[in-house]
Order: sequence, then structure tokens, then C-alpha cells
Amino acid sequence: MKTIGYAAYNKESELKPFSFERRQLRENDVSIDIQYCGVCHSDLHQARNDWHGSIYPLVPGHEIVGVVTGVGESVKKYKKGDLVAVGCLVDSCQHCSPCESKEEQFCEEGATQTYNSKDRISGDITYGGYSDKIVVREEFVLKVPDKMELSKVAPILCAGVTTYSPLKEWGVEKGDKVGVVGLGGLGHMAVKLASAMGAEVTVFTTSDSKVEEAKKLGANHVVISKDEDQMKKASKSLDVIIDTVPVAHDLSPYIQTLDIDGTLIIVGAIDNIPSFHSGLLLGGRKRVAASVIGGIEVTQEVLDFCAEHDIYPECEMIDMQEINTAFERMEKGDVKYRFVIDMKSIEKDKEKVQ
Ligand code: NAP
Ligand code: ZN
Repeated sequence: MKTIGYAAYNKESELKPFSFERRQLRENDVSIDIQYCGVCHSDLHQARNDWHGSIYPLVPGHEIVGVVTGVGESVKKYKKGDLVAVGCLVDSCQHCSPCESKEEQFCEEGATQTYNSKDRISGDITYGGYSDKIVVREEFVLKVPDKMELSKVAPILCAGVTTYSPLKEWGVEKGDKVGVVGLGGLGHMAVKLASAMGAEVTVFTTSDSKVEEAKKLGANHVVISKDEDQMKKASKSLDVIIDTVPVAHDLSPYIQTLDIDGTLIIVGAIDNIPSFHSGLLLGGRKRVAASVIGGIEVTQEVLDFCAEHDIYPECEMIDMQEINTAFERMEKGDVKYRFVIDMKSIEKDKEKVQ
């Protein structure tokens, strides 16, 4: 199936139109016309090869929503016309212990990522949602709840599940005190989700301009993390912290805001984290943990949770052609709070790459 996308051609290149073929449907495949795709900071990391594994041309995008255009003969769950979504995973072995526990992100054979990963059957490199079509096996396609407004759903597929999963895993409930570090795509979803779970939420931000908005999003307290006095006041106040900062940084100031038995969960930086004194953990039986995306079951669960609680990401719609400016702005923290590509706009490039 002839497909058009936007690809990075090397770590310095801007994203440019790229024409490629999607596979013919296998018996358990669903083909999808992509309507919207969110822009995750991971897309920027991968385009720039920050994690050293990028294969070019690289078509990013793992916050995908669209309409089913066809199904393979054994597909049962979906039919033409259904509104569906695809997140960070498109395949896994389906029989190892993590897969059987619905945690495909930990597949022992290595889960297949939506882009920059090897297809388990053909060996071809997967291309993501910055494109007009995608073909995905049935088990990795999510259902968009009926009443949801499609244009605002995409960021739930990564930013949503990546923050929902640890909130759930650490048992956050009414009255718990949750900190969120960094108010970007992931951070603003963490605030909305934790608030909906009944938690008292504290946002740590480096941006003065986000203080009032953080409160509108549901934060009870906002701390400017560069201000030592404000940090001191927040000392020993939190049960769980979701840290979404995209670069390596000192965890010590945040560990000090944890109460006894509190846990700081890294979901942002994949990097060498600067060392800190173990006394910071000892003096309160504290933990530093980390979490990565979520399995298919919990991804469906967060979609349903958002539908039930009327939670939507704050989306700034862009055309596909604006992606390079969007990347620059995201790098500066200048996005409130997630760019979403309207994929109709890619039509304009079709003639150029025929
Ligand atoms: P984003 O929208 O760019 O938000 C990151 C926020 O962190 C910024 O808005 C900013 O918030 C703060 N920040 C940025 N640079 C900073 C710096 N140098 N020092 C301190 N704070 C800084 O990014 P995102 O899409 O939310 O992604 C965040 C990170 O999570 C990325 O590294 C991404 O790759 C990673 N990620 C991980 C998973 C996973 O499964 N674990 C999944 C998706 C993404 P303030 O202005 O409020 O300070
Ligand atoms: Zn992501």
C-alpha cells in the first residue's frame, strides 16, 4: 500500500516527505487511515539519535488515531469504519511470561515498537504515525471509546499511558500526595490523571509562565523548582513523584520532597543519572524507580478512564509541514502541552513525492 510519511534521514536532518509501502494485510492485520498523530519528546530523541539506536530513514509517531479501512480474514474485534488507536507497540511474542501478564512492553524476545523496530515476520524496519496509513496486527490495535472527540485522543496513547501506568502500579488513590516534575506532554497528563484519581497534586516546573495554568489543569500546589525556598517548603510532603524531565538531572532536590516510604518514578530521562547520597533514601525508606509506557491492556484502560472522566490532553494542532518548528519549540519547553498533527495536511505533499 503506497504510503506517504515524514522521515528524518540522519540525526541532523529536518523531517521531510518520504514515500514507502505498507505491507499487504496478513490474516490478523488491521489497516488504518491515520487522522491524527501526537508529537512525543521521544520522537525528537529518536530523530536525533539521542538513544544511539536510530535507523534512517526514521518515521516517528506513536500516538496514532484513525479509521479502519480493512481487516484480514481472521480479525474479529474490528471492522471497516471503526475508530481505533495505536500506541508505542505493534507486536510482541505473545507467549512469554510478561506477554501473558499483559505487559508486552517487557516481552522477553523484545517487543516491536511502532517505529524504528524490526517487524517480527518480514524483518523490515517499522515506520510510525507521521504518515497517512498504518497496518498493525489486531491485538495491538486499541478501541477509541464511542463518545470521545477523536482530534484530542492521540496523546493518551503514549503520554497518557506512560503516566497512568505508574500511578496505578503505585496504587495512587484519593488523598495521596503526588508530585509531577516537568509540565509538558507527559507532565500535564500526569496532573489530570492523578487529580481524577483523587490525589493532591504538586507540580514542579522551571517555567514561571505555567504556574496559573498548572492549577487550571488540576494541580493543588505549584513549585518553581529553581527556587530553593519553595523547594524547602515542599520538603517531605509527597508519596509518589512522576519525573518527566527529558534530560539527565540531579534527583536529590526531589527526593527531599518525598515523605517516608515515598517513591520517585523516572519516566523522562533515559540517561546516566547523576549520583546522589544514599542517606537521602535511608532517612525515610525512600525509593527511586522507573517505568516505561504500558502494555496493551492498560493502554485500553487509560483510554476508557479518560472517556469516563472526560479527560482530554491539551492539544495544539499543527500541519505535518510544521513538524520541524514543532520539534524546535518542544526542545525549548514551548508547547502547551502537546502538538498533534492533523494528518489531512499531508495530502499537500503527495504530488511532490510521487
Ligand atoms: P515535553 O513535552 O518536552 O515536556 C518535558 C517538560 O520537562 C518540559 O515541558 C519542561 O517542563 C521540563 N523540562 C524540559 N527540559 C528541562 C530541563 N533541561 N530541565 C528541567 N526541566 C526540563 O516532553 P514529553 O513528551 O513530556 O516527554 C518527556 C520525557 O519522557 C522525554 O524524555 C521522553 O522521551 C520521555 N518519555 C518516556 C516514556 C516512557 O515510557 N518512560 C514515554 C514517553 C516519553 P517545565 O517547563 O514545567 O519545567
Ligand atoms: Zn511517546
